[in-house]
Amino acid sequence: PKYVYDFTEGNKDLKDLLGGKGANLAEMTNIGLPVPPGFTITTEACRHYLRHGGMPDGLEGEIGEHLAALEARMGKRLGQADDPLLVSVRSGAKFSMPGMMETVLNIGLNDDSVLGLAKQSGNDRFAWDSYRRLIQMFGKTVLGIGDELFEDAMDDLKGEREDTDLDAADLQRLVETFKGIVRERTGRDFPADPRVQMDLAVRAVFDSWNAPRAILYRRQERIPADLGTAVNIVAMVFGNMGPDSGTGVAFTRDPGSGRQGVYGDYLRNAQGEDVVAGIRNTVPLQELETINPPAYRELLDIMATLERHYRDLCDIEFTIERGKLWMLQTRVGKRTAEAAFCIATQLVDEGLIDMDEAVIRVTGDQLAQLMFPRFAATAGNRRLTHGMNASPGAAAGKAVFSSERAVELAGRGEAVILVRRETNPDDLAGMIAAQGVLTSRGGKTSHAAVVARGMGKTCVCGAEELDVDTHARRFTAPGGIVVNEGEVISIDGGTGAVYLGEVPVTASPVAEYFEGEPAGDELVRAVDRIMTHADSVRRLAVWANADTAEDAARARRYGAQGIGLCRTEHMFLGERRRLVEDLILAATPKERQAALDALEPLQTGDFTGIFTAMRGLPVTIRLIDPPLHEFLPDLTDLAVKVAVAEERAGKGADDRDRRLLAAVKRLHEQNPMLGLRGVRLGLTIPGLFAMQVRAIAAAARRVEGARAEIMIPLVGAVQELEIVREEAERILAEAGVEAAIGTMIEVPRAALTAGQIAESAEFFSFGTNDLTQMTWGFSRDDVESGFFGRYLDLGVFGVSPFESIDREGVGRLMRIAAEEGRRTRPGLKIGICGEHGGDPDSVHFCHGIGLDYVSCSPFRIPVARLEAGRAAL
Ligand code: ADP
Ligand code: MG
Ligand code: MG
Repeated sequence: PKYVYDFTEGNKDLKDLLGGKGANLAEMTNIGLPVPPGFTITTEACRHYLRHGGMPDGLEGEIGEHLAALEARMGKRLGQADDPLLVSVRSGAKFSMPGMMETVLNIGLNDDSVLGLAKQSGNDRFAWDSYRRLIQMFGKTVLGIGDELFEDAMDDLKGEREDTDLDAADLQRLVETFKGIVRERTGRDFPADPRVQMDLAVRAVFDSWNAPRAILYRRQERIPADLGTAVNIVAMVFGNMGPDSGTGVAFTRDPGSGRQGVYGDYLRNAQGEDVVAGIRNTVPLQELETINPPAYRELLDIMATLERHYRDLCDIEFTIERGKLWMLQTRVGKRTAEAAFCIATQLVDEGLIDMDEAVIRVTGDQLAQLMFPRFAATAGNRRLTHGMNASPGAAAGKAVFSSERAVELAGRGEAVILVRRETNPDDLAGMIAAQGVLTSRGGKTSHAAVVARGMGKTCVCGAEELDVDTHARRFTAPGGIVVNEGEVISIDGGTGAVYLGEVPVTASPVAEYFEGEPAGDELVRAVDRIMTHADSVRRLAVWANADTAEDAARARRYGAQGIGLCRTEHMFLGERRRLVEDLILAATPKERQAALDALEPLQTGDFTGIFTAMRGLPVTIRLIDPPLHEFLPDLTDLAVKVAVAEERAGKGADDRDRRLLAAVKRLHEQNPMLGLRGVRLGLTIPGLFAMQVRAIAAAARRVEGARAEIMIPLVGAVQELEIVREEAERILAEAGVEAAIGTMIEVPRAALTAGQIAESAEFFSFGTNDLTQMTWGFSRDDVESGFFGRYLDLGVFGVSPFESIDREGVGRLMRIAAEEGRRTRPGLKIGICGEHGGDPDSVHFCHGIGLDYVSCSPFRIPVARLEAGRAAL
């Protein structure tokens, strides 16, 4: 293969091969911008080097040829004693990894050529400054000598002076000191041979791909570990030749807000890294207009050219050598979420891109960020600790330690933060009532985190330094600071920080827009345009997971086209728990029926509210799913209670508690998630499902425009569904109500026998939480606090399969189920209602396998709408 490309041979689409920097240097060269000549050694050469521990055959020769061509073009040889060509050796991977890898400038200088450079430039100081920089960078990057040794030597020499105050003699002395450091640290002299310098630098850049910090960065940013880096060899241009020279960085527009204008920094008489390193204070780029008007005008021209060419915001590095402008780097620049939306629509208005492209240019994650409230400032607030940034946003309120207290205080109009060691389904009411949730245990996929993200509620979880004592209603933070119930704290779900006292919070205008406020400022107008277009191009419908009329109403405001999952079990919690207990304790069919009769009108009321909120749109109601013991008291608590009561009253202890204890013991299961739940409950507890179906029918009759769909959970065999279906159909027919009856696909066997199941099911909905749990054999309530961290470190998967659909495994089952289900029943309606329904990557997957809709929590609906649009483009 060809391992080396001249800048005139590449282009911006060759990032895989030439890296981002090399591809864009080639692109700029080819559109006629002033780029110093050079060439790029490919990532393929790097991959070979890393795999085999040596350069591939033929590479040396190819580099030699390209170097010779460069020398011919420049009219001087690398390191030529009387007039040296100097080059930089620069890393540049496909994805930018800022500051992670290495670059060496001024390759080609030695004791002879430094004199030639001085003579040719007529500038001794410049020549010695360049030489000392080479030894320093080479020492650090190639020879692995700690930079502080060089820095200290330079500081000693400078004393109170600035680096520009050092004269040629100072710098010559510094070069000797630096060479001494190299000798002392490596036992060898600094290599004088220019080609040896260059070759060693190339190897060092290749090696820097596997530097620990680069590995860490890639893991965080999910950049594949095996891409390798390209190496760019670029003829040097000099910003350190005097006051008419300098170097700078700039953006073509403001990466924070997207506003057009001149955004950059400039540093006179300086080279490369000085700008970012903060050696001296830079000046705003506007000042270049007075320092060097022609170069400034040319730079603005070039920035305009780049924006037109890339049709996007670019960032650039440039150098001015004695008044002449040179471009050293460009790329499509990173930006904030706000800027992403504004820039996309600005570019549409400027005619550079169309609305399709604008939708592609923003992401659901960026939109989600824009919807959360933020802290105005954290000045003066004591930081108590930090945990994981589980669900973004900012929240302040009184610390409360139980769901009940949260509900109580919130009911009085007070802002509260629910603080728990960890949360469980019982805390739901408190989580809803609270401004935010703080836990001391559990990771980003713990109950608290998942539920909070779903609700769009701020959450910091796993703040392990906190000692939470829910009984005493207080927690203790590092330093022995005790926070009691009622004291105000603030949590930042974006950073994970926890503060004492109230940090002021401001609402997000984007969230207010989705709540129905008219589009006001530029950002909201941009969001509005992009959402409108995304809606017009998407094929996937977006439904909501909502269990209450309020959630349903919010979902509808956010654009939900139906409810894909209405869980009925939440309706059995709270004060209704006693009725469920009655059902479980029933000793005779009559008692059982009495308990069911008590529940039925309550259920009817719940469904009536939801049907009313969703009038005209489908509402998928899932019959009861979780194991029954979830509705019963905790075994240990109850056992203690009964024991204490018996101690006190002898045989006269509360009989109900004793019967309850027996029921809890009877229903106790080793693996409740694989136990008596879902359709299995319906087939074992006579009358339970029938009661729910009657309630649905009654509610549907009450509400004009109600569109009920009944969903049976945990089906693994068509026979299970058939039995439930028969009874349900009878009840519906008696009530004169029409409702489709379908099933969740969440047990692997259901996916594998979907062809049979579709004979009975009128629709499918993938329950990907359970499907993932059962496909991998991971208990989702346990793994994430356990070994998942290790699995992520080891790269078993790049992201938790509970966050984003595992395409090869779980996704394959989905594909099979969708295909075989539709083969049996053409036009079978298929959706997804797991956590994944609001995950951008999973939305794209669902689009790809031809689902009809994704269903997600109300707060994620805008994200799903946007991503469904992006998936269609
Ligand atoms: P990074 O990827 O960390 O930005 P670069 O390869 O861009 O590293 O180089 C570091 C600095 O050196 C940049 O400021 C760049 O502009 C400057 N630089 C690189 N090559 C040259 C060159 N041939 N002439 C002048 N300056 C250069
Ligand atoms: Mg750079
Ligand atoms: Mg399930």
